[in-house]
Amino acid sequence: MNGKTILKRGKEKPLRQHHPWIFSGAILRTEGVRTENANDGDTVDVYDAAGEWLARAAYNSRSQIAARVWTFERGERVDESFFQKRIRQALEFRKSLQTSEISGNFGSLNAFRVVNAESDFLPGIIVDRYADLLVVQFLTLGAELHKQEIVEALKELFVENQSLVLNLPSPVPRSPPPVTCIYERSDVDVRKKEGLKEATGVLFGKEPPDKIEIAENGLRLLVDVRRGHKTGFYLDQRVNRERALPYLRGEVLNAFAYTGAFGVYAAKLNGASVTNLDASASSLELARENFALDGVATNADFVVADAFEKLREFRAAGKKFDAIVLDPPKFVTSAANLERATRGYKDLNMLAFQLLKPNGFLVTFSCSGLVDAKLFQQIVFSAAVDGKRDAQIVEKLGQSPDHPIGLNFPEGEYLKGLIVRVV
Ligand code: SAH
Repeated sequence: MNGKTILKRGKEKPLRQHHPWIFSGAILRTEGVRTENANDGDTVDVYDAAGEWLARAAYNSRSQIAARVWTFERGERVDESFFQKRIRQALEFRKSLQTSEISGNFGSLNAFRVVNAESDFLPGIIVDRYADLLVVQFLTLGAELHKQEIVEALKELFVENQSLVLNLPSPVPRSPPPVTCIYERSDVDVRKKEGLKEATGVLFGKEPPDKIEIAENGLRLLVDVRRGHKTGFYLDQRVNRERALPYLRGEVLNAFAYTGAFGVYAAKLNGASVTNLDASASSLELARENFALDGVATNADFVVADAFEKLREFRAAGKKFDAIVLDPPKFVTSAANLERATRGYKDLNMLAFQLLKPNGFLVTFSCSGLVDAKLFQQIVFSAAVDGKRDAQIVEKLGQSPDHPIGLNFPEGEYLKGLIVRVV
């Protein structure tokens, strides 16, 4: 028998539109679940004030988001077969994506996001695939308490029943190998808000190697799933690496390079010479290995420095580039620092405009969810004004299709980018 969460009068509308979050302020009371920590994470049935059933959700009194919906289908049980069904649906979509890419111009791909949390109707659950590895994150208490069932569902789909996931059309240049390891990377800040500690390690199979090689558009890239950002790599930028490629020619500055992915594309596929800039020496070490692996080590420089300072130095030295990629980390962490972060984005983009040759291209991103596409465009515009450049937008970018955004869940949109030509 599940606990019962009853909403305040008038608070049911978002839920009727299938928004998956219930804020604590919308809840009148919860019955049958002790609100002490012990029973947090339990599945509850959610009712409106008039007593009508709305959804089944994971409850957590310690979070501002006091409940996250597992299902809007009455009577659906939240068990291993539930997770298997949802993950399989997410996977089917990726499979169709992957198939078209494999048979298209871009060559093989064996790294992609399998499950994108709320936007794949699995709140708090991220699953990324890197060749024969799955890397998972459990971001919420509800997800954490179902960890074992989720791992079993993944094993069933990726290890035991390969035919479900690998019936790609032949000939397939390089189909993904069977999964040999499920690795957890739940070392994320959001877990604190859920009352959870960080957790990392092997959940199934053998210990992963230090670096795992993935294939993306025929390029070879190394991913450090233990220490890398997020689950190891910026899979969300994959389509943008493809879309930006025609503009990354000549002398390219890859600022906030991380492990160099944008730069490897430009060097290998366009013969560009790439300056990779990042504050992290260890990220650039891996970038160096990636350039070498793709045979373009001689086309690349690696500069460990703060981007704000280095771009100013380049400007003072009169240095110019044909194209610049700006892919900074998330500057806006809360509404409180929006203004400061906005200034940071503007400053960077202004410097980039000043470093571009005429007809040069700026490929610029923001991954701050609180900066929407409209605000981002305004920031880039004022950067152009301050940098005294006229420019035109040639492409608008978002997150890759394996990072879908639930229409019912606009919070799932965070990455936006512009490709801008300086005239
Ligand atoms: N473009 C990369 C991802 C960038 S992630 C890709 O496609 O894989 C953001 C990067 O910015 C991180 O590698 C981080 O080390 C770096 N970074 C953060 N602050 C920085 C700063 N002030 N100057 C230079 N690099 C910075």
